[in-house]
Amino acid sequence: MNIGQHPDLAWLVDYSAGTLTRGFGAVIGGHLELCAECRAQLRLADRLGSRLVDDAPALTPRLQPATIRAAAAASGAYTSRPLAAPENQTNLRDYVAAKLGFDWQALDWRSGTAGLRIARLQDRDDERIWLLHGDAGAAMPKHTHGGAELTLILHGAYRTKDQRYGVGDVDENDEAITHQPVVTADSDCVSLLVFEGRLKYTGTLGLAQRVLKF
Ligand SMILES: [Zn+2]
Repeated sequence: MNIGQHPDLAWLVDYSAGTLTRGFGAVIGGHLELCAECRAQLRLADRLGSRLVDDAPALTPRLQPATIRAAAAASGAYTSRPLAAPENQTNLRDYVAAKLGFDWQALDWRSGTAGLRIARLQDRDDERIWLLHGDAGAAMPKHTHGGAELTLILHGAYRTKDQRYGVGDVDENDEAITHQPVVTADSDCVSLLVFEGRLKYTGTLGLAQRVLKF
């Protein structure tokens, strides 16, 4: 498994502390199932967290991975030797179904824009949990949103302007970003999308949003 896109360390710290909500917890937990690097980061963060706070009281609450790595390197706790290949091959579709308590066969898929289907597992303003299925080559609607947004790729892959996201990768966005992922041409793509607030589509899709009630 070749994981290329990782969540910010702050998510791992919250995961470790048990403070993540249901949807965000499933995204981070799913990523950790496949990502030995983040599992190692999590262990380091646990070990080094209190020391960092003692040493640098002015640090912002969101510790950056580079800060953790620097502190770890200084303490001798971190080695840069290549990590062994992940021993397990967790099927992320099975993982999220168990974690979130749903049955893939019983989902209520609704058609969105061309080539895109959406199954909403939870639709509250504080946290929305959706599954997205995009046909090969399908473009997700261009959008921004009101708060944090995490996507975990469960099957296939998509690209944004400058990155590719495959199985196990986490795509993180916030209200400052307008983006439009496009499913790669070789396969369909299934992803778990968790976000706060509402998606706000831009351009002509603003009309579609009102009609289709995304
Ligand atoms: Zn990772």
